[in-house]
Parts: sequence; structure tokens; C-alpha cells
Amino acid sequence: MAGLAEVIKYGAILSPDLFAILEEQLDRLLGLEPALLTSIIKTCCQLKAQVVEADEQEADYRAILNFGHTLGHAVESATGYGRFLHGEAVAIGMAFAAKLSLQRGVCRATTRDRLVRLIKRAGLPVDIPPDIAEQHLRAAIEADKKVSAGSVKFVCLEQLGKTRFELLSATDIVRHVSQ
Ligand SMILES: [Zn+2]
Repeated sequence: MAGLAEVIKYGAILSPDLFAILEEQLDRLLGLEPALLTSIIKTCCQLKAQVVEADEQEADYRAILNFGHTLGHAVESATGYGRFLHGEAVAIGMAFAAKLSLQRGVCRATTRDRLVRLIKRAGLPVDIPPDIAEQHLRAAIEADKKVSAGSVKFVCLEQLGKTRFELLSATDIVRHVSQ
């Protein structure tokens, strides 16, 4: 289930088709049906290869693979790496990134809702635990090695299969936690 978070990520950032397959076939996938599982893993590998290839033309394009990871890493760090599996933290991070995108006018509510619904159906968490203080999240984001000159290339969701980078400070990001 934790691994499925990264599979959902590939659909969300790169492929509306993969996303729709996940919506339709989730139950079979959770049942670990071998043929389906193999085909989905193959699709994810192909999508990743495309990103790495495109990265040679467009500098740092592969940063789109960080979708859900800015906040996800902060949640892992703020909880001492013992409470959530990586994929669970990424699931929380993706739901947050979709919420931030909606609140900043980057995506529509339907896009956010479809992503959150699929993450939940996969048995993964979507909410930031309320006991994590915002200042811990902010400090963890600031400590991330990907922060440069005080800002992060935050991966926002525009539509399913389409992302947009927004340069945001840790404060800008954390503002959306309680919004
Ligand atoms: Zn990851």
C-alpha cells in the first residue's frame, strides 16, 4: 500500500490514463493480481524513464518527481521517521500539495477531490496529524537539501497528469496547513 503512493504519484503528475486505470482497477491492484501489477509497474518505469530523458533537455525537469515529497519528507522528519512509512508520508504530502494547488488557484476542486479519493481508497492517509506543530514542519522544510535561496520548487498539480512549479518559502507552504 505504501508503494502504491508512488504509483498514484506517477498517474497524478504524468498520466491521466494511468490515473483512470488506477481508479477503475484499484481493487484488483490491491488484490495483487500479477498481470495487472506487472503492467502498472512497467508503465511507472516507462514514465520515469521519460522524465529522466526530458531532464536532459529541460534542466531540473525531474524535480516533478518530488510531488508530495516536500511536505512528505517534513512529516517523516517531524515524526522521527518512526511513525509513517515513506509512502504514507508521501500520500499525506500529495493530498497537501493538491490542497495548496487548489487554494492558490492552480487546480480545480474536482482535481483535488479525485486525487484525495484515490489515496484514501488505497488505504493511505491524507491528513497531517494535528499533533505535528507547524513550526516543526517549517523547520523540516527549511532543512531540506532542495531549498535554495530560501525557496523550494514546490510541485503543484494543475490537472491530473500536469504539474506546475511554484517557488515558495517554507512559510508560504506551511500557511496552507491550517487553511
Ligand atoms: Zn518517494
